[in-house]
Amino acid sequence: MALRVDGELIDHHCHGLVQRDLDRPEFESMLTEADTPGPPGTTLFDSQLGFALRRWCAPQLDLPPHAEPDTYLERRAELGHEEVHRRLLTAAGITTFCVDTGFQPEPLTSSAQLAAYATPPAATPPTATPPTATPTGAATSATSPLPACGLDVMRLERIAELAAVDVLTGQIGVGHLADTVRARLADRSSTTVAVKSVAAYRAGLELPAVRPTEREIAAATRTWINEIRGGAPIRLHDPVLHAFLIWCGVDAGLPVQIHVGYGDNDLDLTRGNPLLLTGLLRAIAPSEVSVLLLHCYPYHREAAYLAQVFPNVHLDLGLAIHNTGRGSAALLAQALELAPFAKLLFSTDAYALAELFLLGATLFRRGLASFLDAGVADDAWTPDDATRITQLISAGNARRVYRLPAPPQPAGFPTRPSPARAARSQTARSETGRSQTGRSQTGRSQTAEESARTASPPPHIAARI
Ligand SMILES: [Zn+2]
Repeated sequence: MALRVDGELIDHHCHGLVQRDLDRPEFESMLTEADTPGPPGTTLFDSQLGFALRRWCAPQLDLPPHAEPDTYLERRAELGHEEVHRRLLTAAGITTFCVDTGFQPEPLTSSAQLAAYATPPAATPPTATPPTATPTGAATSATSPLPACGLDVMRLERIAELAAVDVLTGQIGVGHLADTVRARLADRSSTTVAVKSVAAYRAGLELPAVRPTEREIAAATRTWINEIRGGAPIRLHDPVLHAFLIWCGVDAGLPVQIHVGYGDNDLDLTRGNPLLLTGLLRAIAPSEVSVLLLHCYPYHREAAYLAQVFPNVHLDLGLAIHNTGRGSAALLAQALELAPFAKLLFSTDAYALAELFLLGATLFRRGLASFLDAGVADDAWTPDDATRITQLISAGNARRVYRLPAPPQPAGFPTRPSPARAARSQTARSETGRSQTGRSQTGRSQTAEESARTASPPPHIAARI
C-alpha cells in the first residue's frame, strides 16, 4: 500500500515551537526527556530519535539522508528557525494541530502560528481567513491540499495554579478557587477543544474513584494554599484536586486528555500506569465524555486494554513514536493488538523542535502502513479495509472525539464555523440533564483564559509557578 502523504492528518496533542535559533547543546537537550545531557563524549544523536532525524529531516533542508549532525545543524542555522519550521511542518502534512498551551518555559508558537507554518505561502489565497470563521486560516499545496487549522487544549492544572495566584494576591478568596476554575473553563476560547491533566507528573494516576465532594475540594484547596503560603511552589499535586479538575472537564463536556506513562524525568513512572485510573474511568464512563490516554509508553498495552473495555476511552502513542524511531512500528502494532481501531488517535506530542512534527508524522505513517500491509498480505483484511482504517486512525477518530466538522474541499476555501464553536453547540445539544457549568453568551473582547494567559502576576509569585 502506498504511503498516504496527502491525506488528512489530525495531531490531537502537540506543543508549540521555540522561536529562536539553537546551538548544538540546546538542540540536543530537546531530543530527550532528561533534563541533563549524557556523559561527556556521548551525543543524543546516537539514539533512535537521532538517527531518524538525520534520515528523514536532512533531505528537507537540502541535505542527503543521514547527514552528519554538525552538517545538519550548520544548515539549520544557515536557513534560520523560521524557514526550518516552514519546511518541516509543510513536509509533515499535518492538517490540524491541537496544541497544549499550558507548558511555556519560554514563549512558544501558538496553534495559529503552527498552522501558518504548515501552509506554503504561495498556496495561501488572499481571502483564506474569514474573520472569526477559521481560527488559523487555510492552506493548499501539492503535499497538503487540505486546510491547516490550529486548535487549543487547556491544561487543567495551569487554570488552577493561576487561580491560586489570584488567591495569593487577594483577588479572590480561597473559598472561591474551585468556582473560579469552573468559570474560566466555561469561558474558554472559541478554539479550545479539550482539556488536559498532568496528574501523572504530580500525584500519580491513583486518583479517587468517586467524585470528590465540595467539602473535600474545599479542604484540599485550603491545604494547598497554606502549603504555598508556607513557601512551597505553586504546583498543584493533590489527588483530590487533580480529580476535581478532571471532573470539571467532564462537566463541561470537553474531551479529557490524561498524560500516561513516559515523560519528563520529574515523573515517577510507576505511578503513571493507566490501570491506576481504572476506578476513575469507571466513574466517568456513564457521562460518555471522551478520555484520551496520551502517549502511554511503556503501558500502551494496558492503555489498549482500557480503550477496549471502556467505550469512551482512547489512546495515542505520541511522544513514544519519535523517541523510538524505527522501533515505533512495533509499538503501533502492539497497541493495535487489542485496542479497537476506532480508539487509536494520531499525535506527535512534538515540543520545541519542528523536526519532531515531521518525525511523528513520518514514523506514524510508515508504521501504520507496515502494520496494515502485513495484514493485507496475510489476508486478514482487504486493501479497502486498510485504506479506511488509515483514514480513521489518521483523522476520523479525532474528528469524532473532538466533534470537528468535515474538512472543506481542497478545490475551494469555503467559510466554515470555528471547529470549537461547532463542537460546543453540539455539546450543548447533547448534554441535556448533565451537570454543566454555564457559559455567558455575551460578547467580550477577551476570554478569561486569554486574560489569565496574558495577565502578569507579581514577579515573586510568577517565578514560583
Ligand atoms: Zn504533551
